[in-house]
Amino acid sequence: MRNKLADVLAEKGIADPAVLSAIRAVPRHLFMDSSFEGHAYQDKAFPIAADQTISQPYTVAFQTALLQLKPDHKILEIGTGSGYQTAVLLYLKAKVYSIERQLELFKKTSIFFKKMGYRPKKLIFGDGYKGLPQEGPFDGILVTAGAPEVPKALMSQLKIGGRLVIPVGINNQVMTLFIRKSAKEFEKKELGSFRFVPLLENKN
Ligand code: SAH
Repeated sequence: MRNKLADVLAEKGIADPAVLSAIRAVPRHLFMDSSFEGHAYQDKAFPIAADQTISQPYTVAFQTALLQLKPDHKILEIGTGSGYQTAVLLYLKAKVYSIERQLELFKKTSIFFKKMGYRPKKLIFGDGYKGLPQEGPFDGILVTAGAPEVPKALMSQLKIGGRLVIPVGINNQVMTLFIRKSAKEFEKKELGSFRFVPLLENKN
């Protein structure tokens, strides 16, 4: 079923062979509630705990490909959720730091990762709006929730040459890629319309 899913994603335009091999390898059904498990290899988002969703495989593959990962790249993910995207990054040998603001999901995914032997560098319970300055700068930052605007902190935590992949917008989001060219210059690319649950800021 995973091979078939990878074929579907390739037909939809995902061309990166490493990303497709991650889709073939990572057992998505284990990241989902048992009531949806049987649908895990459809190219669809599904509910997880705390009113959140596991992203659609196409979206995971699309965002991952935009990072242009190399082994040992240091990646910050905002929105751990089910951990599926995290596991895809780990399969591609990234060093992953991932932040989740819903305590229930943070706990659930932390326990699941231990059980499965997945080893991100850090899973953090907190507000991804602020990024993770103490661990940066990063080769890539991946935001997996819809951001009303681009958090400045995330731009500042990119290495020169680093990539920020962020869906920007309120109801629909435009997938946006920023590549840091120098301390002050960023190249910006807009890459199509997607739908995400919202990136929420902790106002405290
Ligand atoms: N990568 C996840 C996507 C989950 S949906 C997966 O495929 O399973 C997006 C996640 O972002 C949700 O779990 C939500 O709680 C989280 N989120 C929203 N705002 C956030 C913030 N400011 N900081 C960290 N996580 C946030």
